[in-house]
Amino acid sequence: MVLGKCPYCSGNVIAIKTIALGKKVNLYTCENAKKEHDESSQFVFSSDSTCTFRVYSNVFLKWNKRSFSKYEMKKLLEEEQIIVRLHGRRGTGEYFKYVITDKEYGVSILWDEEVSKKEEEEFLISS
Ligand SMILES: [Zn+2]
Repeated sequence: MVLGKCPYCSGNVIAIKTIALGKKVNLYTCENAKKEHDESSQFVFSSDSTCTFRVYSNVFLKWNKRSFSKYEMKKLLEEEQIIVRLHGRRGTGEYFKYVITDKEYGVSILWDEEVSKKEEEEFLISS
């Protein structure tokens, strides 16, 4: 399934099902960013890879967002910046942050920027 264009090389970003740390996840990857196991079992970019853009759907697990959906990835590729809903530990409430694409890490959270109340409301209405 093609989700959009890679922001770094204009290749297609596709969604594939895979296993990470024993869990089923989606991997959103630029078709030019392929990883493989080398002779020493390290998981590295293959020699024919020309891009590094890859995002796993559990990328925000640390902030208690269980899954970054295909829909969210598609929107991120279209709009370059989206809002995500993150959660504190054990029900200490939710909060909103902007996310942008990152060539090396796939995505990054803009910790220093506040999402306005108005944008939070729009987010809640549209989701
Ligand atoms: Zn790419």
